[in-house]
Amino acid sequence: MDPNKTAAKSVGLYLHIPFCRSKCLYCDFCSFVGKDEEKMRLYTAALCRDLAQYAPRLRDHTVDTVYFGGGTPTLLPPALLASVLDCVFSHYLISADAEITAECNPATADEAAFSVLRRAGFNRLSIGVQSANSDELRAIGRRHRFSDAERTVWQAKRAGFDNLSADVMFGLPLQTKESYLHTLEQVCALPVTHLSAYALTLEEGTPLCRLVDEGRVQIPDEEETEAMYFGGIEYLKSRGLAQYEISNFARAGYESRHNLKYWYGHPYLGLGVAAHSDLFGERFGNSYEIDAYISGEDVTEERSRPDERERKNEYLMLRLRLCEGIDEGEFSDLFGASFWESYKECLTPYLERGYLIRKDGRCAMTPRGFYISNHILSDLLDFPD
Ligand code: SF4
Repeated sequence: MDPNKTAAKSVGLYLHIPFCRSKCLYCDFCSFVGKDEEKMRLYTAALCRDLAQYAPRLRDHTVDTVYFGGGTPTLLPPALLASVLDCVFSHYLISADAEITAECNPATADEAAFSVLRRAGFNRLSIGVQSANSDELRAIGRRHRFSDAERTVWQAKRAGFDNLSADVMFGLPLQTKESYLHTLEQVCALPVTHLSAYALTLEEGTPLCRLVDEGRVQIPDEEETEAMYFGGIEYLKSRGLAQYEISNFARAGYESRHNLKYWYGHPYLGLGVAAHSDLFGERFGNSYEIDAYISGEDVTEERSRPDERERKNEYLMLRLRLCEGIDEGEFSDLFGASFWESYKECLTPYLERGYLIRKDGRCAMTPRGFYISNHILSDLLDFPD
């Protein structure tokens, strides 16, 4: 399935836009609340500065995916967001069929704004729908209603976006399996080509985590959450959205090419606060310090060159997120050892219990395996090789 395999020296670009209208109760992403247009202007100027600065190092690369994530990129005035993409086009070689995505939250852009973005070259939107149930949305601090999400999807479609992804969540306060399936039904009635379904994670330090710890908010128990996960996979399959990764589903040919780069371990450059890169064998990531970033200080807070063992562990972790799993032939080419001989002692019990499948030279998790993937991966990564 790897769409990047044939592209010599291709690279993905990630640009972080850290502004949101308000802070969702579960969120620990790097985002700042408010629509301070002057700050947005300064921040996008800093992004363009970095785009220009990195361009000479990537002169012999083709950029085939560009992803504006956040935060809420569509909170920027559309012309400002378009100007950053212009800057990408003017400094990098962009492939003719590049996938160019902006994350978007409901009711942060209208049809006119989407038309500006479409004309600028964006061809994919990832929209944070999360739930079709107003009480669930309120319980996690989302500002929009489902009707806003529906309107946003249709406005984007009318503006010429044919590749539309929706994010939904399960395991939310007040949510039941029935209400989750109802959300999926409502979302599938929209013209979406891709869907990401994430389990709620209670990140330490977030208001929702505190509320749950204090017993003031309840979340569904393990059994109910599991029923949502498996019910969701079945339902989406019946609607033509096939699972291709633990949390991602797509109509054929609409898998997220940018996210596949992460899972395949292909190079990408991330710019902006909190952005991470994997380039020329090196990993580096930026801090959240927006003012320092704007003023041009070096905000790199992590830099490392993973050794072979780290690369191998990461390969195992990322490939096993994908339904296609590990290509055992590729593994031995890359790491000079047989995958199955190296790990069969650890993995055979999972294979026998139906959590893994080995077929046609591949080893992959089944949906049941995905559900306990943390457990399987921790066993695998602790296993001496
Ligand atoms: S919209 Fe996304 S990035 Fe912004 S606060 Fe909510 S979860 Fe965080």
